[in-house]
Amino acid sequence: MVTINKNYLKLPGSYLFSTIGKKVRVYQEANPDKKIIRLGIGDVTQPLAPAIIDALHGAVDEMAAAETFKGYAPDLGYEFLRSAIAKNDYKDRGCDIASDEIFVSDGAKCDSANIQEIFGVDNKIAVCDPVYPVYVDTNVMAGRTGDYNTVKENFDGIIYMPCREENGFLPEFPEETPDLIYLCFPNNPTGSAITKDQLQKWVDYANEKGAVIIYDAAYEAYISEENVPHTIYECDGARTCAIELKSFSKNAGFTGTRLGYTVIPKDLVRDGVMLHGLWARRHGTKFNGAPYIIQKAGEAVYSDAGKAQLKEQVAYYMRNAKVIYDGLKSAGFSVSGGVNAPYIWLKTPDKMTSWEFFDYLLDKANIVGTPGSGFGSQGEGYFRLTAFGTYENTVEAIERMKHL
Ligand code: PLP
Repeated sequence: MVTINKNYLKLPGSYLFSTIGKKVRVYQEANPDKKIIRLGIGDVTQPLAPAIIDALHGAVDEMAAAETFKGYAPDLGYEFLRSAIAKNDYKDRGCDIASDEIFVSDGAKCDSANIQEIFGVDNKIAVCDPVYPVYVDTNVMAGRTGDYNTVKENFDGIIYMPCREENGFLPEFPEETPDLIYLCFPNNPTGSAITKDQLQKWVDYANEKGAVIIYDAAYEAYISEENVPHTIYECDGARTCAIELKSFSKNAGFTGTRLGYTVIPKDLVRDGVMLHGLWARRHGTKFNGAPYIIQKAGEAVYSDAGKAQLKEQVAYYMRNAKVIYDGLKSAGFSVSGGVNAPYIWLKTPDKMTSWEFFDYLLDKANIVGTPGSGFGSQGEGYFRLTAFGTYENTVEAIERMKHL
């Protein structure tokens, strides 16, 4: 008889953003005349930059001629893209990462979900709380956790590292020693950033304990402060303890086009085995490659024109972040984030729960945000707003919130 993977039954029935989508649909159907402004979901809204569009057109034309047609992409990605990444994202920042340590993929969501497959199910994972839900959900699916604990409102068997106002929304070393440590900076959902000195301490800790850090740098392009590292490989010793996940989604608008990459240095060895080889084996078997057309578009991100256009796009979103941060602060909200990340994290007023505030904001101001509790128990009482809307809508939304 067929059995199912019962670990899936430990998870709540729907993903956070599906629940939000349903609530908004119901509200809009009941109130068709209301203009709802979405400052909730972490999707971008600006079109792909002209340099990327040109590269896409060029690659499509290549597909139309037998001499330039491309079939399956190389398992680990085209060399032209891997070398552009190695040069621009690592060598130019003084980091020692070679192109053959880069694995091109169809996005950081997939990689952050799948990377756990190369580790044993007996590994203990540590996550920040609140956290991007994919890390926890996929470890639950893999059977690396216990059941959902309705009292603690999180999963048994996971080491949660609370990130709260008191610690500047940064994790502290846990009492119990973890094997796999998920860190994401700049952070989704809190918008907090980590300094190089602070991250160095995590690298030293992981090397000392024999742990592996899975470092999600999806929002690296939003860093504005000097002392915030753009990659974990800026820290000494990271080659022997860290895997890095990167995305083209938030810096270049590839949320629909799909492109990302994972870095696994060849010095990263656990259990006597190079993790690089395990991930290469997985990519070879389970991954069919990011399309040539998309990888050519990714290469254009590193062209002079691409860099200039994307800098403007990030600045556009960060202008929204400032509108949200300054506007809400002046209106008396307690806010953080928004300086090195497109996320603003606010405390719900009047001790409302996150979902109470969600309903209140939707009903009274027709604004959609994301309840902090959707990211973990420590997100209760908080709310996430994102800078990915249009400037006009962002200004309008904040004006509405000022008059709540
Ligand atoms: N990592 C974090 C922390 C994210 O917030 C997101 C998307 O919201 C992703 C990864 C997903 O990136 P991608 O679009 O490349 O799959």
